[in-house]
Amino acid sequence: MRRLEGKIALVTGAARGIGEAIARAFATAGAFVYLTDINDAQGAVVAGQIGAEAAYRRLDVREEADWQCVTTEITGRHGRLDIVVNNAGITGFEDGMVAHDPEHASLDSWHAVHRTNLDGVFLGCKYAIQEMRRTGTGSIINISSRSGLVGIPAAAAYASSKAAVRNHTKTVALYCADQGLAIRCNSLHPAAILTPMWEPLIGPPGAEREQRMKEFVWDTPLRRFGTPEEIAAVALLLASDEVTYMTGSEITIDGGILAGSVARPSVD
Ligand code: NDP
Repeated sequence: MRRLEGKIALVTGAARGIGEAIARAFATAGAFVYLTDINDAQGAVVAGQIGAEAAYRRLDVREEADWQCVTTEITGRHGRLDIVVNNAGITGFEDGMVAHDPEHASLDSWHAVHRTNLDGVFLGCKYAIQEMRRTGTGSIINISSRSGLVGIPAAAAYASSKAAVRNHTKTVALYCADQGLAIRCNSLHPAAILTPMWEPLIGPPGAEREQRMKEFVWDTPLRRFGTPEEIAAVALLLASDEVTYMTGSEITIDGGILAGSVARPSVD
């Protein structure tokens, strides 16, 4: 089904992982997709694989000038921007395990995580609204996390930034409604989706990696990692015109983790 026929989409952090899966799903559904990232080589490869329905542009989500440049180009060429997925995000563990607990995290690392995860989403929403205002309609999808809904002792900045994304999503949704715009804004809250983001945490192939992977999902009711395609399927629904009454909503895609508590009582 060509559920996004004729729509113009922009996805951040689309060179790999969840962003890549979303870009591929949108193009298959009929959208023209701008894949954006800071990994230019990989982004161009993925856009090339998708083919005529995609293009790659460099967009560092932290840089307002990049947002201005890319969104101006898109509306200049197509006259519209229908879908923006604010997906790019970092954990703070890209270079290996460092202290990210509330007592020992450095202020620099706290700021770095917020700059990508929160400032990036703020700018993405800002330029999405400005460009979508031309048609008065659109769908903004912010990729938050399960970590935006609960505290994470060892990843304080990540959890804080993702919680802020959840809240800002609702502010954007209400602002657009106040303005009389049919621009919807919703957040997705994945957990344990097997992407390259996990590589520094689970290590190289081998028995230890298998053991670490098991440990990471021990409390997941579905007892496995999710796939990027399982997030893309929900993003596709939010991007389509099938759920036009949904705005300011949050959807968890976490194998059931947040359906209960970790210490599940058997009866009482
Ligand atoms: P990946 O690390 O696999 O991919 C993220 C992509 O974003 C990379 O290509 C990365 O480039 C790019 N990127 C990083 N910083 C910037 C920036 N400043 N501007 C533009 N692009 C940037 O991540 P995932 O696919 O796993 O995650 C995607 C989103 O989903 C993130 O927001 C993440 O927090 C969220 N999420 C992921 C979960 C998971 O289990 N995977 C669970 C919950 C939420 P480079 O490689 O060069 O750094």
